[in-house]
Amino acid sequence: MIPFLSLKEVTGLHAAEIEEAVKRVVENGWYLQGAENERFEGDYARFIGSKYCVGCANGLDALIWIFRAYIELGVMQAGDEVIVPANTYIATILAITENGLKPVLVEPSIDTLEIDSERIEALITERTRAVCIVHLYGRNAYSDRIGEICSKHNLKLIEDNAQAHGCKCADGRVTGSIGDAAGHSFYPGKNLGALGDGGAVTTNDPELAKAVRTLANYGSSAKYVFKYTGRNSRLDEIQAAVLDVKLKHLETDNAHRQQVAKMYYDGIKNPLITLPERLSDVQNVYHLFPILVRENKRDELQTYLKENGIETLIHYPIPPHKQECYAAAEWNRPQLRLPITEQIAAQELSLPIGPTIKPEDVQYIIEVINRF
Ligand SMILES: *Cc1c(COP(=O)(O)O)cnc(C)c1O
Repeated sequence: MIPFLSLKEVTGLHAAEIEEAVKRVVENGWYLQGAENERFEGDYARFIGSKYCVGCANGLDALIWIFRAYIELGVMQAGDEVIVPANTYIATILAITENGLKPVLVEPSIDTLEIDSERIEALITERTRAVCIVHLYGRNAYSDRIGEICSKHNLKLIEDNAQAHGCKCADGRVTGSIGDAAGHSFYPGKNLGALGDGGAVTTNDPELAKAVRTLANYGSSAKYVFKYTGRNSRLDEIQAAVLDVKLKHLETDNAHRQQVAKMYYDGIKNPLITLPERLSDVQNVYHLFPILVRENKRDELQTYLKENGIETLIHYPIPPHKQECYAAAEWNRPQLRLPITEQIAAQELSLPIGPTIKPEDVQYIIEVINRF
């Protein structure tokens, strides 16, 4: 069986260094808010190209804290609107609704699967405060057009960089440093993954960084002094130590993903299958390798691949606006039509990709797909 992603193998790639880092923390006896967080935050901020990095408990919290901090700083208030792609993992939307903000969903482009920048401006109202882009599947979603729209309408640009560690936009800036703030996830399966949950916010705004750090630490601005009603949402020292090791290898690991993607792009030839428009490698770190399968044959292809020993996943089978949790949401009007998002949910299939998959396995997957 070729697994979709073997976390055991991913950890195994750098096992000795990871074990050494974990042992160091265990023996140090200091498990939260210490030197490991400080080192990782510094290294990650440098890697992304942002002035500040604040570690937190997970990627969802990172995004929640960005919006909450803007509310605490008076930049946004409950009921304000955030423009966000409809084709995303639900956490992006949850971070908006958790704060009493209103998601305004934008259709993706069927060619890139990312937010369609040409559809943003029509959705702007006097309540719009931000555009939240998602570098979904590891692919850069930023374009100068989006930057221009945000400047012109005085909107915050927030990046969900949960799937795109190390990706760059066309002018070479690293995703996560392009907008006003970015949320990052270090969920184990992400390109930069911890051995458990983890997340971070990056920004150049000192006020925002400070508010996020305070919110994620009970709202505490000084010991036993509480400025906000925050929560306990910190990155622990073991995860920070592991992430600092894995950050050193991220570019090598991403390069392996890019090699695999090249094989898929060059090798897959099946009239039922469409691949997303190819971008230069710097603009895609291939967290996932999505394909679209026509004529209602996606599920059939998935079963056929499974029978041939190939595990695949769907990202994502039910889009956020179709989820039960949002069935009665005021912003989720029944007349909301998102046919492209729904088409992706019906046709998308993610092929195995990761830092450990072997070229001969990729070759086998291509041959099996081309015979379908
Ligand atoms: C994984 C992910 C998140 C949430 O991150 P967690 O660390 O799992 O909470 C947010 N947005 C996107 C696009 C993701 O893929």
